[in-house]
Amino acid sequence: MKIDNEKSRKTHCPGCGNNRNTDIKGSFEPARAEDQHGDIWVQEEYRILQCRGCDTVFFELATLCSEEIYILEGDADPEHIVRQATVIKQYPPSAELEMPNWLAQSSIPYKLNERLRDVYGCYLNDLVSPATASLRTALDVFFELSGIDDKLRFERKCEVAQEILELSGPDRKCLDTLIEAGSAAVHRGWKPSKKELGTLISALEGFFKNYYVHRPIIEEMSQKVPGKSEKINPSKVDGV
Ligand SMILES: [Zn+2]
Repeated sequence: MKIDNEKSRKTHCPGCGNNRNTDIKGSFEPARAEDQHGDIWVQEEYRILQCRGCDTVFFELATLCSEEIYILEGDADPEHIVRQATVIKQYPPSAELEMPNWLAQSSIPYKLNERLRDVYGCYLNDLVSPATASLRTALDVFFELSGIDDKLRFERKCEVAQEILELSGPDRKCLDTLIEAGSAAVHRGWKPSKKELGTLISALEGFFKNYYVHRPIIEEMSQKVPGKSEKINPSKVDGV
């Protein structure tokens, strides 16, 4: 069994940022690596692809291991087995999750911004456990910047944060979950799937977007909206 030698395929394009039809412009399949009996083997195929939408040229490595096939042996369709068992890595790494613009440009403190870049950097390079640990580090920097005592345990830091920063119940739940995930990665060897890690990062983004972007805007608006007893000055109303 070998990796399917297709001429085109639909995959994530780093140029468009979406799934696109691509042409495989060239490929190279080195001799498979195998154990002394030839029972366990790994086959690689290096491919150069070009997006049919934006013409971006990129590279991918497809890897097929006999042990992955063994796990799927109950499936009757050999092509389906190969598709399921083949692991594909893209270079430059697929940027389906990249640091959002609001996060890079907003008034997030530099020290926190740096730690968030660690999270995205690890994610894009498939370093799942370090990315999960980095989530906790980013929150720890957030606690430090909020003036919370660095010597406290994480659970207590979350309690204090909820109190002094007036966080909502869902915000507190989000903090607890992210801290627990980071601790599980650091101390218990927990390794979430890439999809689960994406969900954790989305939760972290949601928390910081609410804190650093939405809250200041709402605070500003609350100063502008006239109270019940105030009369609206017509000269300040647009179009009058
Ligand atoms: Zn493209």
